[in-house]
Amino acid sequence: MCGACRARRASARETTTRAEFCAPCRDGARATTTRATRVADGASFDVVVCGAGAAGTSFARTYLETTARGGDGDGDGDGDGDGARGARLLLLDRGGCAKTVERVERVTRRASVYGAREDALGALEALGARTATASVAACDAESKTLTLDDGARVRYGALCVATGATPRCPLPEASDGAVDAHEVRDVESADALARRLSSMTATASADSDSKTKRIAIAGNGGIALELVDALCVRGLRARGLEACELVWLVKHGEVGDAFFDVDAADFLLRALDARRRDGEAKDDDGADVDWDSPTPERGAGRSTKKRARGRESGAAAGPDWLDRFRAKSAADDARAPLSRMKLRVLKNVCIREARKDANTGVNVLTLSDGTTIEVDAVVAAAGVEPRCDWLDEVAAPRSKSDGGILVDACMRTVGPYGDSIFAVGDACTMSARASNPETPWFQMRLWSQAAQTGAFAAKVAAGVCDADALGFNFEIFTHVTRFFGLKVILLGLYNAQKLDDVPANEVTTYQRESLADATYVRVLLVRGRMMGAVLVGDTDLEETFENLILDGVDLSRFGPSLLDPELDLEDYFD
Ligand SMILES: Cc1cc2nc3c(=O)[nH]c(=O)nc-3n(C[C@H](O)[C@H](O)[C@H](O)COP(=O)(O)OP(=O)(O)OC[C@H]3O[C@@H](n4cnc5c(N)ncnc54)[C@H](O)[C@@H]3O)c2cc1C
Repeated sequence: MCGACRARRASARETTTRAEFCAPCRDGARATTTRATRVADGASFDVVVCGAGAAGTSFARTYLETTARGGDGDGDGDGDGDGARGARLLLLDRGGCAKTVERVERVTRRASVYGAREDALGALEALGARTATASVAACDAESKTLTLDDGARVRYGALCVATGATPRCPLPEASDGAVDAHEVRDVESADALARRLSSMTATASADSDSKTKRIAIAGNGGIALELVDALCVRGLRARGLEACELVWLVKHGEVGDAFFDVDAADFLLRALDARRRDGEAKDDDGADVDWDSPTPERGAGRSTKKRARGRESGAAAGPDWLDRFRAKSAADDARAPLSRMKLRVLKNVCIREARKDANTGVNVLTLSDGTTIEVDAVVAAAGVEPRCDWLDEVAAPRSKSDGGILVDACMRTVGPYGDSIFAVGDACTMSARASNPETPWFQMRLWSQAAQTGAFAAKVAAGVCDADALGFNFEIFTHVTRFFGLKVILLGLYNAQKLDDVPANEVTTYQRESLADATYVRVLLVRGRMMGAVLVGDTDLEETFENLILDGVDLSRFGPSLLDPELDLEDYFD
């Protein structure tokens, strides 16, 4: 153990996160944390939580804290107080680590920046949980019994399903299994991609005559945006990177469509381009951007069927995954100059066929527009699918639209076992709570929502919270993030989510932008009332707009001057 880590371990802190250790000690810590702790066959618990990602850990912590303070504690959520104080809770995870989401910075009353901490699963025993490294293989909801992968059977009073989601594979089902495909979900998969990138840049650097090395990234959400930013905008200290190309395959007409509307996406692209140009002026590294837009094709974007995988992923990587990825990708060449990959964006395409050429070893992708590209690797960044194969769909019905476990407004599964089975985080679909068109809140699979749904379900299970969800924010959607180095705040129904049934003439949007100070503001109003806003850069409008959305003040009289920087909007709400 290195001196710094020894000092940290010796310090008085109750838990120490793996991220604080140097690499060898971190790996040692992981080995310790993943050592199997088994549950005895026939053991029985008031509550069993499956999955120690952000959602499951939040459920376990909140439930233990609540029952320790004298909640109901019997897991039936009826508030009758017939449960034992300090209920017996088992937290299971196949990965051996527990993720805890923490608020890093409060931005408005409802919006915050979150971070995630990773502890050994066993650290939760200090709170009174029993923990075990095990995979749940099956559930008999009638007899309230789980079967674990080692054959042990565990009885529960209440079950919390928090097994997260798995990356959607952008390759068609019939693709050649030999294709070099990567995903980004957990720390291991992000590390594997970093290693692949490292070996590619090393080859490109050693053999300057070799063909351009190429990676295709398929997807248009947050992970794709972050990878493009890391590899093509901010760059890495890796020799040979400039000889590589990133081909970004976007099934929509605009990049970032999973988050934004066309105008906001367009602004972000121009900001990205400006940043790259700025970087090029400084670095003179000559990276190119080629914004290619093939003709849209009917049916494009449908090939997102799941492919069988040899590996089961763990908890979603934390917000620091990109820093770790950057460090690992450049690990062999820390003193190399900062360089960036060339970027080619192909819009309105998806992968129709993927195979590995047996002679050249190159992966050949046939796109929906009929063109083919040869790549060294493909990265899947096409969103996630809830995962819970071990829970019968009759016992816990699924959403037809995204496959998540359907829950009611209290996070109880719909169907016959709602009194004993909860589902939270990425694994669940909250149609009941999200369906009200009057409420500017909707579900998005994010840290904040994973942690919130876990804590809320725990309070319901402990009998101290009901559908009113007092103390929880299901009133307004908020998300604070960064894309291409710019702060992005999303409020309410910022992209007209849930407004399909509202006549177009009742919806108004206003926007203003400035490339010079890299700010973009777009608001959406329904019948004069603000329902959503996108804020890019330092606009200082988030608090005001959040209040305007929540208060539902009629703003019709302002028209486009609503975004006039001289207008003091704070005077118009209480
Ligand atoms: C690379 C990446 C970057 C992201 N960046 C952001 C971001 O910047 N901001 C943001 O808000 N969100 C981000 N997200 C999304 C966010 O991470 C997820 O919404 C959130 O972590 C979901 O938490 P969860 O607990 O529901 O699921 P998970 O974190 O996936 O946890 C599920 C847990 O269940 C365990 N498990 C699964 N099956 C079983 C089984 N059968 N038996 C036992 N255990 C099992 C797994 O090991 C895992 O630990 C990102 C996601 C990824 C992948």
